[in-house]
Amino acid sequence: MRLVLLGPPGAGKGTHAKILSEKFKVSHLATGDILRKHIREQSEIGSRAKDIIERGGLVPDELVNEMMAGEVERAGVSKGFILDGYPRTLGQAEALNRFLKSHNAELDAVLNFATSERVIIDRLSGRRICPECGANYHIRNIPPKKEGSCDRCQAKIVQRKDDQPDTIRHRLATYEKETYPLIAYYREKNLLQDVHGDWDVPELQTELKELFAQIGL
Ligand code: AMP
Repeated sequence: MRLVLLGPPGAGKGTHAKILSEKFKVSHLATGDILRKHIREQSEIGSRAKDIIERGGLVPDELVNEMMAGEVERAGVSKGFILDGYPRTLGQAEALNRFLKSHNAELDAVLNFATSERVIIDRLSGRRICPECGANYHIRNIPPKKEGSCDRCQAKIVQRKDDQPDTIRHRLATYEKETYPLIAYYREKNLLQDVHGDWDVPELQTELKELFAQIGL
């Protein structure tokens, strides 16, 4: 299985990618999570990405393309993967295309999580993450077992700097300008599958199950 999950921030890509990656035993490669790990580890990539991420902009294509090519190679192109948050620009989509061609591999599908602004704002403003291990929570939808602390490592969970209202608005504008055109790009390649990003997790998982049965995944 080789999938791309496309959709605005807060569409639920990360939540569904995690469930699908466990179910189908493929790697879940989330660009945002990988970049935040680089920042925590104070790597060269992390130091180049930190300010851009905090402002809600996009990290330059060359940096992300190289980083993700390495991640996909490590995961194993033939073993399959779910890309969550990559590609996010036409330049990245073309780089991914070239990369997969050079490995004689193709995407099976691109899932487009169509999501309304109201739901996006609600999900992002309630999202919390663990600054130590990167685990994701939502104050209402996915609360930690003990209020305010991470289930995995007990660290105090926090709101991402880029989940503050002004930065959310900037990220949504960036999505419209840079990422939205990928819908037409992948539709033209006959890879795009629209799914209901607004739906709750169980309903959308059912929709995905039916979709995968239809397209033979
Ligand atoms: P996310 O966790 O997917 O919301 O990503 C958080 C931030 O990481 C984004 O707002 C960008 O600053 C950066 N980022 C994630 N994926 C990409 C990408 N494919 N290209 C450029 N920047 C990215």
